[in-house]
Amino acid sequence: MHCTNFFEVERWFKHITKQDFFVKRINRIKVKNICTEPPTVELERTVRDWLVGGEWTTFWHMKQLMLTLKQNDVRVPIVLTRPGDIDELESLYNHVDPGGSRMIVLCYLNPNSKIDVDFVWPKQHISETDQLGEGIVIQNAEQLLKPYEDIGLSYEMLLCDDEPCATCEKHNKIHNNPFRFVVKWNKDWFYKEDTQGFNKWYEKSKDTVVNNIMDWYTT
Ligand SMILES: [Zn+2]
Repeated sequence: MHCTNFFEVERWFKHITKQDFFVKRINRIKVKNICTEPPTVELERTVRDWLVGGEWTTFWHMKQLMLTLKQNDVRVPIVLTRPGDIDELESLYNHVDPGGSRMIVLCYLNPNSKIDVDFVWPKQHISETDQLGEGIVIQNAEQLLKPYEDIGLSYEMLLCDDEPCATCEKHNKIHNNPFRFVVKWNKDWFYKEDTQGFNKWYEKSKDTVVNNIMDWYTT
C-alpha cells in the first residue's frame, strides 16, 4: 500500500456512504463531453496572467502538462463533485477539481481523447451521470485508490468533509463541494520539469517573438 493514510480514507469512504453519497467511476469518457468551455479561452488567460501580471506558476504548470499529455495518457481519474443546490447537469461540469488543468489541456490537444472520471455524487442525483457512460459504483477504499496505487509512489489523500471542512481549513484551500478528495504526491512524477525549470527556460526564450500567444506553450 502506497497510501500513507489508508485508514483515514477507509473511514471517510464509510462516512460519505452513510451520508448517501456515491463515488461512481466512469472510464474513458470523451474529454469534450466534460470540458464544456472552449479550452483555448482558459489557456490564453493563463498566458496573459503571466505576460501581464507576472504570475508564471500556473502557466508553467499548463505548459508542462501540454508537453506531457501530448505523449502520455492521464493516469489517474479527474474528480467531479456536486454542489447540493444545482439541478442542471450542464453547469456541473464546472466542478472538476482536481483535474481541471488536465481536462483543459487534453481537450485542447484532442477533444476526442478519453479520460477516467470519478463522480462524488449524492445518491439521489446519481442518474445525472448516466448519459456519460455506464461506469461502476465504487464499493470500498481499496477500489477507490487502485489507480493511485498503480502509480507506485507514496501519497496522501486529502479528504473533504461537507461544510465546514476541516481539511480545507488546515491546508488553506477553498472548499468547493462536499466530499472532494485530492491526492498529494510525495514527488511530482507527472511531468519532468520542476518550478526551477521555468527560470532556465525563460532565460533562453525571453526574446522569442511569437505570432500567437498560444505559441508560448510550445516554444
Ligand atoms: Zn474541503
